[in-house]
Amino acid sequence: MIPLVNLQAQYQQISDEVKIAINKVLDKCDFILGESVSLFEDEFAKFSGAEYCIGVSSGTDALHLALKALDISPGDEVITASNTYVATVLAISYCGAKPVLVDIDPQTFNIDISKIEASISSKTKAIIPVHLYGRPVDMDAIMALANKYNLKVVEDASQAHGALWRGKQVGSFGDLGCFSFYPGKNLGAYGDAGGITTSDVTLYEKLRLLRNYGSPLKYHHDSIGYNNRLDTLQAAILRVKLKYLSSWNSQRAKVAELYEKHLGSINEIVLPQTQFYSGTTHVYHLYVVRTKKRNELLKFLMDHGIQASVHYPIPIYSLGAYKNLRISPEAYPITELFSGEILSLPMFPELMESDIVNIAEKIKLFFSMKGLNS
Ligand SMILES: *Cc1c(COP(=O)(O)O)cnc(C)c1O
Repeated sequence: MIPLVNLQAQYQQISDEVKIAINKVLDKCDFILGESVSLFEDEFAKFSGAEYCIGVSSGTDALHLALKALDISPGDEVITASNTYVATVLAISYCGAKPVLVDIDPQTFNIDISKIEASISSKTKAIIPVHLYGRPVDMDAIMALANKYNLKVVEDASQAHGALWRGKQVGSFGDLGCFSFYPGKNLGAYGDAGGITTSDVTLYEKLRLLRNYGSPLKYHHDSIGYNNRLDTLQAAILRVKLKYLSSWNSQRAKVAELYEKHLGSINEIVLPQTQFYSGTTHVYHLYVVRTKKRNELLKFLMDHGIQASVHYPIPIYSLGAYKNLRISPEAYPITELFSGEILSLPMFPELMESDIVNIAEKIKLFFSMKGLNS
């Protein structure tokens, strides 16, 4: 079986270091906002090219608190992409604001920047670009629009830890950058965890209160905050893993090159772009191809020991919770088409060339059988 993601292969490389880090926290018993939290925040801020990082309890909570810190409230509209993980949109709903979905670009799979302007209204307060699958959104274009219309920018970098847009880290362009450290992410904890990056000291101070019951000092509560802290144990684990993130991201890029080498000759599937502007890097949280025969190929691969998946099979505006968000039946042609064609192949740093050859052979076999049958 070749899994989609292999957390065990990664844990085996670092298990000794992780156990030492966990034991240090256990010996100290500083479980809530302990030393490892502030050390991780400093290290992740430095890594991300931001002044500050606020450790929080998940990526969803990072997005929610980020919008709260920007005072997004009922009556406001927030623009994001129609193909993203639902958490991006949930965070907008938590603030009582209205999510406004914009279709995606067929080349990048990210928000179609040329369609954003038509979605801006007098109520629009913010844009959430999502660096989906690990590929950076064109942040020059996003920031230009945000400046023109005076909008806040919250980057959802939950799938793109360490990705660069023209030499600068994603998460450091907007007012706030949000990260998930869900176990399967490029930088994953061993439970739920998240982080927010910023270079704005006022937002930083506001977020430190928001994540901790609105409390600057024990039993003093200056605002209605939440219990959304990053656990000390998770921070200790993340500190160990952060040291390896860049090399794991390079290994992911090598896996993508190997996929291109072995799948490049198959006409029935479209591979993701791997060439970018200089200084721009894709960190391949997911390796997503497209094919007209998606459902059949997915089943074939699963039947042959290859765990493929779909991110995401149901567009946000077709989810039960969000049927009201579809602007018109024709508003999302690319998202609509791609939700039936996209296929995520196994992607993790330890994936070997022999596995990729095996996957390529299965895909070739599938299409050769199709050719015979039709
Ligand atoms: C994973 C993810 C989230 C949510 O993060 P959690 O840590 O699971 O709450 C939000 N947005 C995107 C794009 C994600 O991939």
